[in-house]
Amino acid sequence: MKEVCVLGSTGSIGLQTLSVLKENDNSFSLVGISCHSNADIIYQQTKEFKPRFVAIDIIEKDHPLKDLCSNNNIELIIGENSSSILSSKIKADLVLNAIVGTSGLEPTFNIINNGIDLAISNKESLVLAGHIIMPLAKKKNVNIIPVDSEHSAIYQCMIGEKKDSVEKIILTGSGGPFLKRDLSTFKSILPEEALKHPNWDMGKKISIDSATMMNKALELIEAMWLFDISYEEIDIVIHPQSIVHSMVYFKDGSYKAHLGVPDMKVPILYALTFPNRSSSNVGSLDFKSLNLSFEKPENERYPVLGLSEKLIKDGGNRVAVMSIANDYIVQQFLDKKINFEDMFTTLVDTVKRFENDSSPSIEELITLDKNIRLYFNSK
Ligand code: NDP
Ligand code: MG
Repeated sequence: MKEVCVLGSTGSIGLQTLSVLKENDNSFSLVGISCHSNADIIYQQTKEFKPRFVAIDIIEKDHPLKDLCSNNNIELIIGENSSSILSSKIKADLVLNAIVGTSGLEPTFNIINNGIDLAISNKESLVLAGHIIMPLAKKKNVNIIPVDSEHSAIYQCMIGEKKDSVEKIILTGSGGPFLKRDLSTFKSILPEEALKHPNWDMGKKISIDSATMMNKALELIEAMWLFDISYEEIDIVIHPQSIVHSMVYFKDGSYKAHLGVPDMKVPILYALTFPNRSSSNVGSLDFKSLNLSFEKPENERYPVLGLSEKLIKDGGNRVAVMSIANDYIVQQFLDKKINFEDMFTTLVDTVKRFENDSSPSIEELITLDKNIRLYFNSK
């Protein structure tokens, strides 16, 4: 039995992970779960899986989760940073971090620091602190297995290959719901429209990030750290069907591509079972009816791609400021405080306001998050 802990168990990836674990309950035991405030869902998960630990930041005083845990000898961690506390004390074979945004940073660090293998869905922690996380994982001899479909694809293409054989990584992205929308109407895009991704059913933040292609910018940085490769060696290509999950181009002229139905349960299952594979019921592709197309992302449609490239070149904490600010900007758009186009202008403005720092520590990044939050709360 592989002991697994899932942080962010109530979200889109968290729920799918628990359903994969349930389908494979002969192989896995769920030993810890966490969320921010979704007490009713985590209550049901606790009832079903009876993990050793449950962590939640905010909960009503009389919520039945409390009795459920005490009656079943389950340790319940309550309060701000409960996922971080859980991640620093959990003993497991693998932790899957499916927390959204900057809040995933401390847990990612704690898991690796404790020498536990990490299935990483929280790309933001790599964007913020890849310079700390990757060397630490090496020092602690910890595996970081990507859950993000593109990175899972690249990871699988890289198996058996030498790093110096790699010429390029081709990171595919669907282009989101506004790939063909008239640019002059972008101001009036509603959150409801932006949340409707053509191929994937995901959490709110990543859905908005997919519409702006901030998601691909974050994924490019995620790939730089995971595969120790420079941004010049990564091409972003639009592939509206999301069947080719990414590709690697080798120096002998060969390409390796990873294909499959667009279903996150596949990379989740792979991360859970690595280095083995288990059967799944996601189904196969019908190649006779497939029409695959690829195109170049338009700069005007996705201005964040150009901005992120500039910020990568600038170095230091620039992409960390971008990623943290983006968490709050997306929320402002969802709350209808700013329009779709304002997200980009606000991002450019915010990045300028925060000083560069050549190699921020985890503590400095947490302080940076607090300062950026204060800045948005005071606006
Ligand atoms: P969701 O918004 O659906 O879920 C987020 C999870 O994180 C919830 O369990 C939520 O708890 C928890 N959470 C939120 N804030 C905090 C906090 N401050 N402390 C602890 N836990 C918190 O997100 P997704 O599942 O869509 O995405 C999760 C991560 O996976 C992101 O980094 C995303 O980029 C990445 N990813 C997602 C994909 C997808 O298909 N959804 C695909 C590839 C990558 P609560 O429910 O209580 O708010
Ligand atoms: Mg992805």
